[in-house]
Amino acid sequence: MFTELTEQIEDLAGCCDGSPEGDDLERLVDLAQATKALDHETEMPEERQRQRYMGRPATLADHENNEFKVQPICRRCWHTGPVVSPRELADRFGLPMASAIPAVEARLRCARCGERAGYLAIENPAVSGRGC
Ligand SMILES: [Zn+2]
Repeated sequence: MFTELTEQIEDLAGCCDGSPEGDDLERLVDLAQATKALDHETEMPEERQRQRYMGRPATLADHENNEFKVQPICRRCWHTGPVVSPRELADRFGLPMASAIPAVEARLRCARCGERAGYLAIENPAVSGRGC
C-alpha cells in the first residue's frame, strides 16, 4: 500500500521533470516580455500619464452635449460667477462652441479683482443636489 503510493508520487514528479522546450519556452519569453511592458507602463512619469489620459481638451460643445453647466471661479480671490450653460457662456464671450475649455479659461477676467486667473468649474445637474 505504502509502496504503491510512493510510486505514484515518483510518476507525477517524472511528468514535471525537465525544462520547457520549443513553443513552451517561446510562450514563457512572451509572457516575461508582456509582464515587463506592464511594469514599464505603471512606472511612467506622472506627466506622461497625464498626457496620455487627457487626449484632446474638452470643448464648450462637449459640455453642452453632456448637459453640464459651467461656473467661472477666480483662483486669486475665489469670486464665483453665475452657473450658466456652455452656450450662454459662448454667447456672452462671443466664442464658438468648438472652443477648448483651456482657451476659454484664458479669456476669463475676474469681475472683482480683475485678475485673469479664472477657471471653469463643471456642474453636472444630473448628479448635483442629491445631498452629497
Ligand atoms: Zn478675483
